[in-house]
Amino acid sequence: MSDTPSRLRLAVLPVTPLQQNCSIVFDEASKRAAVTDPGGDVDQILQALDQLGVRVERILLTHGHFDHAGGATPLKAALEARQGGVVPIEGPHVDDEFLLSRVSEAAAKWGFSGFSSVAPDRWLTDGDTVSVGGIPFEVIHCPGHSPGHVVYFQREARFAIVGDVIFAGSIGRTDLPRGDHAALIASIRDKLLPLGDDVGFLPGHGPTSTFGQERVSNPFLVDD
Ligand SMILES: [Zn+2]
Ligand SMILES: [Zn+2]
Repeated sequence: MSDTPSRLRLAVLPVTPLQQNCSIVFDEASKRAAVTDPGGDVDQILQALDQLGVRVERILLTHGHFDHAGGATPLKAALEARQGGVVPIEGPHVDDEFLLSRVSEAAAKWGFSGFSSVAPDRWLTDGDTVSVGGIPFEVIHCPGHSPGHVVYFQREARFAIVGDVIFAGSIGRTDLPRGDHAALIASIRDKLLPLGDDVGFLPGHGPTSTFGQERVSNPFLVDD
């Protein structure tokens, strides 16, 4: 798997009114892909998949908030109709089931419609592996922003998809149902930063960064 970093490709599409970073992760060699956090704007995601010429193996969710998960069910249906065969929705951890089963209600509270609830085909837990075109991503359970939040880490490529755990210069909010600030800080300090300063990450909103950059400059992580 030493050629993994050169085979892994990433296309980022901000979706929903919250500009959530849906991504298409794919293996350049086999053109096999996963879509992460398809919160909405499913037509736009399908168009991007067509342009890249990739086949989607699975849909991966970091957590159950509507801007991340609200398009997963219609995207799965559209892909299964186009590609044939099952396209499983995998993740997050089962502790986010209370969010996924009420996605449309949650979106309505924010004044948005057109988001669907989700019943994942596979719940994930810490230490699981998911594969994209044969490239393994390690699953890291990072509760705090939501109780079932997971992060996907590709060790050789030094790259992680972190959802709303950490952002460039900020961290996930913890004032939503079952948010926990101390758990979030522990997830970041004990599980993400030890992966290495050189690890680049795609957050759920805004620009990419590295754990090293955040370790020294993120106001929520720097002790004063
Ligand atoms: Zn969130
Ligand atoms: Zn979000």
